[in-house]
Amino acid sequence: MADYLISGGMGYIPEDGLSAQQLFSVGDGLTYNDFLILPGFIDFTSDEVDLTSALTKKITLKTPLISSPMDTVTESSMAIAMALMGGIGIIHHNCTPEFQANEVRKVKRFEQGFITDPVVLSPRHTVGDVLEAKVRHGFSGIPITETGKMGSKLVGIVTSRDIDFLSEKDHNKPLEEAMTKRDDLVVAPAGVTLKEANDILQRSKKGLNKDYPLASKDSRKQLLCGAAIGTREDDKYRLDLLTQSGVDVVVLDSSQGNSVYQINMIHYIKQKYPDLQVVGGNVVTAAQTKNLIDAGVDALRVGMGCGSICITQEVMACGRPQGTSVYKVAEYARRFGVPVIADGGIQTVGHVVKALSLGASTVMMGSLLAATTEAPGEYFFSDGVRLKKYRGMGSLDAMEKNTSSQKRYFSEGDMVKVAQGVSGSVQDKGSIHKFVPYLIAGIQHGCQDIGAKSLSVLRSMMYSGELKFEKRTMSAQVEGGVHGLHSYEKRLH
Ligand code: IMP
Repeated sequence: MADYLISGGMGYIPEDGLSAQQLFSVGDGLTYNDFLILPGFIDFTSDEVDLTSALTKKITLKTPLISSPMDTVTESSMAIAMALMGGIGIIHHNCTPEFQANEVRKVKRFEQGFITDPVVLSPRHTVGDVLEAKVRHGFSGIPITETGKMGSKLVGIVTSRDIDFLSEKDHNKPLEEAMTKRDDLVVAPAGVTLKEANDILQRSKKGLNKDYPLASKDSRKQLLCGAAIGTREDDKYRLDLLTQSGVDVVVLDSSQGNSVYQINMIHYIKQKYPDLQVVGGNVVTAAQTKNLIDAGVDALRVGMGCGSICITQEVMACGRPQGTSVYKVAEYARRFGVPVIADGGIQTVGHVVKALSLGASTVMMGSLLAATTEAPGEYFFSDGVRLKKYRGMGSLDAMEKNTSSQKRYFSEGDMVKVAQGVSGSVQDKGSIHKFVPYLIAGIQHGCQDIGAKSLSVLRSMMYSGELKFEKRTMSAQVEGGVHGLHSYEKRLH
């Protein structure tokens, strides 16, 4: 490769590192850990980095993060939190069509600004009760009514502002003493329209709701929500219910998406609901990708066998290391303007940066978002550690619950179940409202080190060959991790 001259005649900078094309030109499949990105030039602050990116042909997100359609990851609370932070959640389908459609409805309804079934307490409840509700439900804006039930007279509200600075000895304090009293609240009569309510809030200059400048919304200002479906005949009924609930995007949930079933389903959806965005997948090769693009998908989900709970590669012998999958599929799909979702195998924020630098427009996560307050399921303790369950949708555990995850992982006539996933647990990560801002800041810092002020700059740097990569030997990987310490504590944010 030719050396090139830096202007001013200061000297030659020898060509250094590999372009993405060179990195993947050898046959070896690469995981995110098998390479690094070489740093570039910084002339902006990290919070200036714009993370806007395409989810599908028609939907753009301000945060390129998606929660996976798994029954231990995404139901309505996760989807609401993800959309508020600028990403999106995909509601799982290991449940009845009615349950799933109702979860979608909760997300779409939330966005209207009204919470119609809030957690309510009475003035006799304590600060401790609010803290407990916060742990359970992940928020602390709790209306206080005379009886502690919906429908009785509103006497005040408790928000984080009222309780954040109280000490432990105040936990037994009745809310009567801690709450903001009704006289200080901005209220409106029942039946007020959203427009009227917003006008009142604006006039009062009292931002009762936290501002979410990145929130993902549709043209009617409702939060965006996705849902997963299968490709069977009865999924058409599920699809009808989901569209009636206002779902914005459906994800065809299959571990090997290049099938006649999926292609037929894409045709069916595009004919019946032409405006609905459809994500096809999963795929890991250009040949698989071609068939789904030809069928009309609006985005592709990439990954086979790289998920943390996944044993697909072990059992089915099929799959591909995720770095290579993302690069190969994205490189093909971009010619048709079809965005790519890097799905699975994201263990750190650095992996997110790597997925995006290989051409993915967004990243889908399971384990990284599991065990947050907003993930379904209750916390439990094991050996003193606070945990939540996290399981593969192809685990026997998940498949025993319902038939829909069987459909992702089995053919109709299969008599013997072959698990493609495991069931386990993940340590408590707190609320998505704290964790996603950490991920966002981490991605911005990564882009800053690379010298990319936005994800679109990152992509063009990669495709022009300006972005340089380097393979990581095993010893380089050891060097890049914490080493040589007797003990240490790893706190990330
Ligand atoms: P993680 O983020 O590494 O935990 O991977 C999550 C991804 O793994 C999901 O989005 C799915 O694509 C995939 N997945 C979910 N359940 C299973 C399973 O049982 N077997 C294989 N892959 C799975």
